Amino acid sequence: MQKQTTAIHARYQQPDAYGALSMPVYHCAAYEFANAEDMIESFCGRSDMPDYSRVTNPTVTYFERKVRMLTDAADVVAFSSGMAAISNALLALSSAGKNIVTSRHLFGNTFALLSGTLRRFGVEVRCCDLTHPSEVELLMDDDTCCIFMEILTNPQMEVADIPSLSALAHRRGVPLVADTTMIPFTEFSGKALGIDVEVVSSTKYLSGGATSIGGLVIDYGRYETFTHRMRQEMLMNLGAYMTPHVAYMQTLGLENLAARYAVQTDNALRVAEALAEHPEIVSVRYPALPSDPFHDVFTRQLGARGGAMITFQLASREACFRFINRLQLIKRATNLFDNRSLAIHPASTIFGNFTDEQRREMDILDNLIRFSVGLESPIDLIADIQAALAH
Ligand SMILES: *Cc1c(COP(=O)(O)O)cnc(C)c1O
Repeated sequence: MQKQTTAIHARYQQPDAYGALSMPVYHCAAYEFANAEDMIESFCGRSDMPDYSRVTNPTVTYFERKVRMLTDAADVVAFSSGMAAISNALLALSSAGKNIVTSRHLFGNTFALLSGTLRRFGVEVRCCDLTHPSEVELLMDDDTCCIFMEILTNPQMEVADIPSLSALAHRRGVPLVADTTMIPFTEFSGKALGIDVEVVSSTKYLSGGATSIGGLVIDYGRYETFTHRMRQEMLMNLGAYMTPHVAYMQTLGLENLAARYAVQTDNALRVAEALAEHPEIVSVRYPALPSDPFHDVFTRQLGARGGAMITFQLASREACFRFINRLQLIKRATNLFDNRSLAIHPASTIFGNFTDEQRREMDILDNLIRFSVGLESPIDLIADIQAALAH
């Protein structure tokens, strides 16, 4: 069955009593058992019977099940946000004295989690250029617990070679953990590329147009203790499971993801081509443009469609602010992959609380605009951009 069909027709865990065509929202905290023996099986993680909605809920399980079928994963756990997915996965893998090898080109809160929060618990973060595997190898030692990467960095638009990093991790018997938020997991095979654990902000492509906040940990089952720990330890002790209402909305988002992604990426390519020709634009980055420095490695790993994020440089920070303030249709907002197009100046907002030096180290440019391209007509989007760039 094609992924697009699976995304819609995956069966429920149990037949619905009323034949409901979309999975009902099970708004309940706990579930009744027929006898004491069934309770033991459920509480000890040996049966699928739900016991308590902090750790399992039929609506959330159905969402997880669809993602598991689409990715061919061993297990998928849904969380209350992308950051909850990332922090739970890293807390399951690390402990005091261990180190995580990664890059400075990370989502801002992820970088703060690694360099601030986890460091306070004795976990060391070691940063290098992940596009140079020899640097990665030099930083790894017996205390390395994982390599952490993002498949397309935001806003630097950098793409590292995933199989090489996977090989380095596996040589030391540790997992490659990848944040795959930037391209839907239906567009490529994380498993075939050698990723062991995918973490995803389902707030972005999956939520169906910015309906809700959510996250996923997609586990390919190469590390048995990890799979066990996610459900038996992290969900129980940290309590950041997805709520049933969010799972309901994100299941609908998953059903129409393929259609939205096709339109958004067609739009993004048209907008990127228009930007590339505009005299006010210093440079444009979009991985589906053949001129993009990461075009080949992106296409080989992540597919022919370049996603719905574009970045471009204007002459100065002032030119960026002037442009943003003149937009009429495109919204001034953070977030990515909403149905509506969004623009932001990352240096002064998402990265506004870092020092100038930290921003330099992270390659956050002061003259850079980030665009998330929506489902509007590209004719209207290009007209809005051209009007905002005009003198
Ligand atoms: C948005 C985002 C996150 C955080 O996800 P939330 O759902 O906002 O917690 C993590 N990584 C990347 C790449 C993101 O874009």
